[in-house]
Amino acid sequence: MPSRADAVIVGGGLTGCSAAYHLSRLGIRPVLLEAELVASGASGRTGGIVLEGSAAGPLDQANACVPGLAKLVEREQIECELRLPGCWEIGHRDGGVRRLPWIDEGKPVSVTGHVPGGTVEPLRLTLGIANAALRAGAIICEHARVTHIDSGDHLVVELAEGQIRTDWVIVAANAWIKSLVHDAHMGSALTFACATEVLNEKVIEALGFQDKIPFYTVDLPYLWGRITGEGRIIFGSGLLFDSSQGLEETGLETRSFARAIEVLTRRVRGLHPALVNTRFSHGWAGPIAFTQDQKPILTCAPNQRRMLVAGAYAGHGVAMSVRAGELLALAVARNDPLPEWGALAR
Ligand SMILES: Cc1cc2nc3c(=O)[nH]c(=O)nc-3n(C[C@H](O)[C@H](O)[C@H](O)COP(=O)(O)OP(=O)(O)OC[C@H]3O[C@@H](n4cnc5c(N)ncnc54)[C@H](O)[C@@H]3O)c2cc1C
Repeated sequence: MPSRADAVIVGGGLTGCSAAYHLSRLGIRPVLLEAELVASGASGRTGGIVLEGSAAGPLDQANACVPGLAKLVEREQIECELRLPGCWEIGHRDGGVRRLPWIDEGKPVSVTGHVPGGTVEPLRLTLGIANAALRAGAIICEHARVTHIDSGDHLVVELAEGQIRTDWVIVAANAWIKSLVHDAHMGSALTFACATEVLNEKVIEALGFQDKIPFYTVDLPYLWGRITGEGRIIFGSGLLFDSSQGLEETGLETRSFARAIEVLTRRVRGLHPALVNTRFSHGWAGPIAFTQDQKPILTCAPNQRRMLVAGAYAGHGVAMSVRAGELLALAVARNDPLPEWGALAR
């Protein structure tokens, strides 16, 4: 770990890795510090549904996040199974554009809209961008937890192992932003997912999944899902609040966690008779972060225009975080103004 850097990025998820990648291509050699392993936060645990725009609707300079992501994946030859057949919006009612053969919590389910997007294997995507950043010249340090950022006249990033003086800091710590930027107004929670065993084609067809289009509900109770290349279906739902600290210590045996996964798998088994006896191969959770109006944070810290902060995509961050990383890099390398998305304080 060097003692001085042009730019330090805190957090090795999609936002941080994208910022590192784009900065390196713009001629600045960043040092990315990740507390655990790259992609160990939301980015390696996400559902992998690729969506355009933000949870709060269209935002300035965020109307082509999906094509931007596709270009990056192609340019760097990242093998992450990016597919863009669109995404279904579904609702708990009859009479949408297409009735699905499911009953969810006693209610019929139909497709109400088809929006741009698709699916990706998120861990491979994040590691692929990190590797592309390394190839372009970035330095990535894992197991490097930042304990404090001195945002006085001279920016100093502190870790247990020492400190780095730098001209710019990018805080890309998502659900952990508040631990470094104390006046950030945002919340965080754990959200849950489970994956079925590999299902055969007949079951996939019976469920109406033959076109492999991912979905998310536009009403409550919330449910999202997608099918993987090998034929597992991943479903997700549920929130556990006040979880941004101690994610590493939250194991499957934790009571509230086990209960949330049980509620989710029971709900999935009830969707269709073909799922009643399905086995689940994986259950996991990851941190999501959000602001009150669901606009992602993309701004500089109060009184320190060289400390930039991005995150809190409200569960809608796969494509958007990669775009945010690019915008952060442009702000550092070319002094481009950041678009006005969400602020740190309201
Ligand atoms: C279960 C789940 C399902 C989701 N599904 C979808 C989906 O289908 N579609 C979609 O668009 N979005 C989805 N999301 C949201 C999406 O995954 C996130 O918005 C996105 O991954 C955020 O990326 P990030 O880099 O900002 O944050 P993260 O990936 O969380 O990265 C932050 C990193 O910062 C590190 N860090 C924290 N504190 C420090 C510190 N002090 N020092 C150094 N490093 C630190 C963490 O270890 C972490 O690796 C989902 C999220 C979850 C959890």
